[in-house]
Amino acid sequence: RSLTAAEAEGDERAVEAALRPRSLDEVVGQSRVRDQLGLVLEAARQRGRAPDHVLLSGPPGLGKTTLAMIISHEMNAPLRITSGPAITHAGDLAAILSGLNEGEVLFVDEIHRMSRPAEEMLYLAMEDFRVDVVIGKGPGATAIPLELPPFTLVGATTRAGLLPGPLRDRFGFTAHLEFYEPGELDRIVRRSADLLGVDLAPDGSAEIAGRSRGTPRIANRLLRRVRDYAQVRADGVVTRPVAEAALDLYEVDELGLDRLDRAVLDALCRRFGGGPVGVSTLAVAVGEERETVEEVAEPFLVRNGFLARTPRGRIATAAAWVHLGLTPPALPYD
Ligand code: ADP
Repeated sequence: RSLTAAEAEGDERAVEAALRPRSLDEVVGQSRVRDQLGLVLEAARQRGRAPDHVLLSGPPGLGKTTLAMIISHEMNAPLRITSGPAITHAGDLAAILSGLNEGEVLFVDEIHRMSRPAEEMLYLAMEDFRVDVVIGKGPGATAIPLELPPFTLVGATTRAGLLPGPLRDRFGFTAHLEFYEPGELDRIVRRSADLLGVDLAPDGSAEIAGRSRGTPRIANRLLRRVRDYAQVRADGVVTRPVAEAALDLYEVDELGLDRLDRAVLDALCRRFGGGPVGVSTLAVAVGEERETVEEVAEPFLVRNGFLARTPRGRIATAAAWVHLGLTPPALPYD
């Protein structure tokens, strides 16, 4: 479906898909990952073999799915997409694996959330391209080995540390995606504006980039909200004042913190005196899942020096108090 059609239907996912870079050359930033991955793919192409299994880790929206699609595209191989939570039984995984064609790329998002028996089946599949399909139950059960064609597993996880060592070790190439620099986000915003036909002034682009939490997905989303604002409340051109007004309306502050980020800092400072407090307690205080606080809000807050993880729990830094307009406690503890 075309980008225009997707937009007309307000289909966010389809718009996101249309904005994805299709080749490594189109990927903005992540230059080291791009170089390393480019080499892995080129070598595999020269040998006429499926590339090694690839593990991509990093916070949501930094390009893991995009890279999986690019791997399939650059290898001219079909892509099959699934996710850890969708694989509850080993049988689910056996069905997927036995349906793979030679050279196919299997993308497993949130691979750390796969069930343990499925994980164990995956070890064998990754290493020997084989699965043992168990027929029957109890003492009469028999394992029938099934050969698989060579394939490439691309796993994505928000935190590589959540993966069991034996699984991590079976990936031949591991890349950690970092938050993007403002200059890189600026290029992403301008590229998307071109594709979407948005009239974007350079200072408008910089403003959106600066408030995007280092995350391309957020940059693209904010661009679309700012464009709405420009169209309805201004003359359609996205300038800095228009971007500022729109982002204030959507409660994205000048450093890019959104409501959840601020709620976490607010609870940490006002309710728990700056911490230390456990992440589960903090999650309850803001009415969110622990995973969301840990995998979405925290990486950005830590990276920007607002929050620190300590063995005794999370603590707010002086910068967090100041950002909330509060006075940090007299004793500096960070
Ligand atoms: P993840 O799988 O890590 O959650 P995605 O791959 O779905 O993230 O990326 C989210 C969106 O951000 C995509 O629509 C894509 O357009 C954009 N994006 C991600 N990384 C880049 C990049 N390096 N350059 C340009 N756009 C990117």
